[in-house]
Amino acid sequence: MQRADATLEIDSPTAISTFRSLAARAERPVTETADSLTIALPRGSLTVTPDGAGTRLRLDSPDAVALQLARDLLAERLAEHGVVPRWQEDLAGRQPGNQSRATVVSARRLSPNYSRVVMEGPDLARFAEGGLHFRLLFGPEGAGWPETDASGATRWPGGMTAWHRPVYTTRAIERAGAAARMTFDVFRHEGGRVTDWCDRIAPGTEIAMTGPGGGGIPEMAGWMGLVGDETAMPVMIRILEAMPADTRGEAVLFVPEAADIQPVRHPEGVSLRWVLRGGDETPLAALKALSVPAADRYVFFAGEKAQALDARAWLPEQGLQKGEFVSAAYWS
Ligand SMILES: Cc1cc2nc3c(=O)[nH]c(=O)nc-3n(C[C@H](O)[C@H](O)[C@H](O)COP(=O)(O)OP(=O)(O)OC[C@H]3O[C@@H](n4cnc5c(N)ncnc54)[C@H](O)[C@@H]3O)c2cc1C
Repeated sequence: MQRADATLEIDSPTAISTFRSLAARAERPVTETADSLTIALPRGSLTVTPDGAGTRLRLDSPDAVALQLARDLLAERLAEHGVVPRWQEDLAGRQPGNQSRATVVSARRLSPNYSRVVMEGPDLARFAEGGLHFRLLFGPEGAGWPETDASGATRWPGGMTAWHRPVYTTRAIERAGAAARMTFDVFRHEGGRVTDWCDRIAPGTEIAMTGPGGGGIPEMAGWMGLVGDETAMPVMIRILEAMPADTRGEAVLFVPEAADIQPVRHPEGVSLRWVLRGGDETPLAALKALSVPAADRYVFFAGEKAQALDARAWLPEQGLQKGEFVSAAYWS
């Protein structure tokens, strides 16, 4: 757990009533005592109490990522009311708690349509737990990396909308204390800014990223059905490699050509079918062709947005309940 305390220069009845309406707007549960209010955040909590003529805020967050996201949100909401939180520690000019810096160890062409990037950084070990994904950060030329301001919020040089923040999947990670060496695979596509970047980078190139985020390895059912397109190959390989040996199921992976097929360790009871692009079969069609059993099952679908939305509508129509499937849009 990480704890952070701040004071606000407004009286506590006003602060409590403001936070009560903010919580109602965000549909977050609150607990109140005679003079305090606690809001349950998606991860952690915020407690508002009196502090002399002013107000004290206390954030309890499970980790540095959640704490930074809470500080960013808090600073944004309080700014709407012209209030700035004063944290106990001086936060100006720091690396945001959900960001890491790394340097490229190697970047090479893995196969005709994939590049593989290996990077290492002093605090990358945290990407080994939680979500399987992270965002690369590309800012305006020469802008420098984001830092926190005195209110604890992330300041994006040139404004947040000037930053390109594409999501990638941690394909492999080797920890060494707090540091780690991390690998990710980039599907090379027409006009892709990351594709071009892969061709420009060299050992020593600096990288900044946020995360970890997104889904983790899903809870394993006895039968697992996985269907994904080119961008989902890294996550599907992570899931296949994490499956208990007695798992049954079907996995279908789409790649542009045979030379892009990677060796994958998976349970004997899970069939793995590679589909080469160019034929009529779409990931959605492959999903509809799975032989999903009536119970003890889980279906994972990831790919282009329109297909993922169709899959998200179709799966419950087949009787799959919330918690028995996920369908994620990886690109549009
Ligand atoms: C949770 C998650 C995990 C992901 N993991 C990976 C991963 O490990 N490896 C990986 O390669 N991708 C992954 N993706 C997909 C990746 O984030 C997108 O493809 C992203 O748009 C790539 O950024 P870019 O800068 O190369 O493309 P942009 O410069 O943003 O886009 C340029 C053009 O390319 C188009 N485009 C984007 N993606 C594709 C595509 N796949 N095929 C064809 N056209 C495309 C865009 O629509 C746009 O017109 C993941 C996405 C999510 C949400």
